[in-house]
Amino acid sequence: MFAFLLYAMEQGVDKHVDLQNSSAKRMIGKVAVVTGGARGIGAATAKLFAENGAYVVIADILDEAGTMLADSIGARYIHCDVAKESDVESAIQLAITWKGKLDILFSNAGIGGTASSITSLDMEQVKHLVSINLLGNVHAIKHAARAMLRCNTKGSIICTSSSAGIMGGLASHPYSLSKAGIVGLMRTAACELGVHGIRVNCISPHGVPTDMLISGYRMFRGNETTPEEVKKLVGDQGSLLRGKAATVEDVAQAAVFLASDDTGFITAHNLIIDGGYTSAISSLS
Ligand code: NAD
Repeated sequence: MFAFLLYAMEQGVDKHVDLQNSSAKRMIGKVAVVTGGARGIGAATAKLFAENGAYVVIADILDEAGTMLADSIGARYIHCDVAKESDVESAIQLAITWKGKLDILFSNAGIGGTASSITSLDMEQVKHLVSINLLGNVHAIKHAARAMLRCNTKGSIICTSSSAGIMGGLASHPYSLSKAGIVGLMRTAACELGVHGIRVNCISPHGVPTDMLISGYRMFRGNETTPEEVKKLVGDQGSLLRGKAATVEDVAQAAVFLASDDTGFITAHNLIIDGGYTSAISSLS
């Protein structure tokens, strides 16, 4: 006790506060790639990763928003269409060139698709969505795993599925298909990569009022639907938590949880972030 007090006095109060702050950061020195990181859930996660001490590469097709965000959080931005394998490879390579390693992939880029009856699906639209939402994850896991194996990092790969991958619901058919596929992909990759200490998990959000969700609601309810209305609707219908709708920060916190070493024994897991929605609906059926 005396030794500790002496140490604390030598360090001074400010240093003590610094130590406390740094211990609150859960990703110090980690190198992360966030696909779809220019806005929405990806942007909130890129920000929270950086606040937790990580070096972040933002990979997206929204160059202006992505560059602005990267500049504001000390991250790097790269134009990357996840449907193109070579773009994804370049994004991973940027992390290696910049910091010499890759610890974390947050494979988050995705699109919602347009609502259509199963009987009149436009197959070109289906292929387009699958090339981004599903093959984009294949590209990302493939190249992130290669980099992690090369650098010998015991990395964490986090994909973004959805409640739609579990429940279907009102999402577009190819969207649900792609999100269910991600869970299968994540589990097989986790089986293979676990022996190298690489963890692979999914998060499955539900009802986060982002641009994607607002566009989805507008398809069903008309273009005049406001973000506030969407927030209220998902809060009332999509959560057991007294009308609370999920925020992008709720999802980002879950990504930090899975990215950090605190969850070193969690792999092949689909972490559902839905305020209880999918469990409650299942128990009614
Ligand atoms: P968003 O539209 O705000 O963000 C999606 C991001 O992905 C954008 O920055 C966009 O530019 C990027 N993107 C789209 N196509 C891309 C491509 N081909 N290559 C690279 N980047 C691309 O939507 P969001 O709600 O933040 O969605 C993020 C992820 O979360 C998606 O995978 C989505 O399916 C998933 N998700 C969202 C919700 C929700 O309620 N919002 C629920 C479940 C799952």
